[in-house]
Parts: sequence; C-alpha cells; structure tokens
Amino acid sequence: MDIFCKIINNEIPSYTLYEDKIVKVFLDVNPNHNGHTLIVPKKHYQDFFDIDEETLNYILKIARDMAKRLKERLNYDGISLCQNNGLGQEVKHFHLHLIPKYHNEEKLSVEEIYNKLK
Ligand SMILES: [Zn+2]
Repeated sequence: MDIFCKIINNEIPSYTLYEDKIVKVFLDVNPNHNGHTLIVPKKHYQDFFDIDEETLNYILKIARDMAKRLKERLNYDGISLCQNNGLGQEVKHFHLHLIPKYHNEEKLSVEEIYNKLK
C-alpha cells in the first residue's frame, strides 16, 4: 500500500487542511515553499490517465478553493499547480501539488504553517 493510501486510512498522521468523502488535502512534509499542499483522492488512482473525469474536475474545484485559503493566510505572490506522472512521480497515487511562490520567503516549519492554515 502506498503512503497516501496509508494517510487516507489514518495509519500515518498528516497535517490535514480539508477532508470530505472524495478528497483529503494536507501539507507536504518536504515542502518546496511555505504552504506546499497536496490534494489527493481517497480512492486509489495511479495517475492522470487512471483517474475519472468527475473526480479530476472535483479536485480542480478544491484546488481553487484551497489556493484562495492559502492566499488569505500566507499572502503568497504566485501559486503553481503541478501534477507528475511516470518519471518524476514519487508516489504512484494521483496527487496535485499546490506550490505557493514568494518574492521574499522566510522558510517556516510545516507545523508553523499548519498553525496558520488550520
Ligand atoms: Zn494509493
């Protein structure tokens, strides 16, 4: 079982920002930037080609909602959506990265970021 299935089953703890029947949203524990967030479907899909269209659209909706929340709390200067498949995909369970960018960034711990966002 991959690490995201374990997080979804609560076998591994996570800094969860949002959760419903379809998705779980939590902070990346090895962030590129403050507020680096992962949106993961609860059902296991391997990648972009495996996931069904309805779930994919729902994930994009959640991504925009989360991007607004990150803007309110962290006031980033830009944000990138990133989704890897095959080479470069470290966990073989579909996930969308939200990566805020900053002109000037003081790197905070994941726990400090979580306290600003929860
Ligand atoms: Zn999985």
